[in-house]
Amino acid sequence: MMNLKSTNISLYVHIPFCSNKCKYCDFYSETDGFNRIPLVVTQIINQLDFWLNKLGSPNITTIFIGGGTPSILPIDELDRLLKHIDRLTPNRVEWSIESNPESITDSFLNCCNRYGVSRLSIGVQSINNATLNVLGRRVEPNRVVDALKLVKKYWRGQFSLDFITSVPNQSREMVLNDINFAIQSNPDHISFYALSLEDGTKLEDEVSKGIIEELEPKKSEDLWLYGRELLKNAGYINYEVSNYTKSTPCLHNINYWELKPYLGIGPGAVSTLIDKDNQIIRVSNKKSINEFLKGRESNWGEEYERLNPEEFLEDYIIMGLRLKRGINRKRFKNIFNVDIWDVIPISKKLEEDGVISTDSDFYKFSKRGFNIMNTFLVEILDSIKGVKIRDLNWFY
Ligand code: SF4
Repeated sequence: MMNLKSTNISLYVHIPFCSNKCKYCDFYSETDGFNRIPLVVTQIINQLDFWLNKLGSPNITTIFIGGGTPSILPIDELDRLLKHIDRLTPNRVEWSIESNPESITDSFLNCCNRYGVSRLSIGVQSINNATLNVLGRRVEPNRVVDALKLVKKYWRGQFSLDFITSVPNQSREMVLNDINFAIQSNPDHISFYALSLEDGTKLEDEVSKGIIEELEPKKSEDLWLYGRELLKNAGYINYEVSNYTKSTPCLHNINYWELKPYLGIGPGAVSTLIDKDNQIIRVSNKKSINEFLKGRESNWGEEYERLNPEEFLEDYIIMGLRLKRGINRKRFKNIFNVDIWDVIPISKKLEEDGVISTDSDFYKFSKRGFNIMNTFLVEILDSIKGVKIRDLNWFY
């Protein structure tokens, strides 16, 4: 692996436990065997130390502890994990942790405060009982209100709320109530996602069996655009397809969307790094706590895959165009040794159709393109099939 000493990287830590599996969720987590938590935390610390040593102690700038549900960790285990990460990251500029309302407590918040965690992301998703039921989330709206009271009282950093739309049976009125609740809670940041039915989830199974009816695409899009307008009217800036802020965007996620070097620790986490031959390598930890607990002897269940430059190009375009500001043309040229305008053969047509709007600094979707980007992303990806990248210098 290439020595990344003095290179800026982002760190993601995956906590693979949830108290209940939500019907729509395909993130890796387990809902039992919580007696393994201390062992998992120990192996997370071991895997983190191993990789930082192997990479030559890179400079960790952003940290994200996600899952799963980090807020269900017992406080002594959370404390042990945060203390360790705190010691290793003196130059961090942002540290986020995910939580669910039902497991937010004063001791959880105080523990995070103690080590300087700077962003709290709270998975609310909805305050409507019917929507929560469809999603299979076992939380009472009252518990959300109580959790936010605790946040107001104890939390010292910024906080973000996650909401979801395009849920079966959801109406404009329900979206309005959810978004009004979000806005009145006055978070620094809001994530507002459209539900996507993922293979293997219970909700997808229920829809395919006709137990629940999926929203028609037009209705689904209408709700999403409606929620987006409400957020924008309340002064939230839509800096990424599903993310809004009044103050600071999530720097960690921006690094992720811009495909900057990324170390993923914990069961199911993924790293994007570079090896000695200047090849981009994905390291994926198996989605298995038991494999992970075998530790160093079986490399924590890591699987390695070399990305060819063309795969990296595809990922770079898909992820970069999610950002409102688009893809930085100078950085793109430094990495791929070619201008993005020339790599995408249909650039001129897209510009004439008002889908993209480029300037000398950024290649990005126009307002129209941004609203319905999936259609255009498919066109763009089709058009770059067969494009060959000769030189790749990732660390620009
Ligand atoms: S949505 Fe969040 S809380 Fe629900 S199962 Fe997935 S990770 Fe766990």
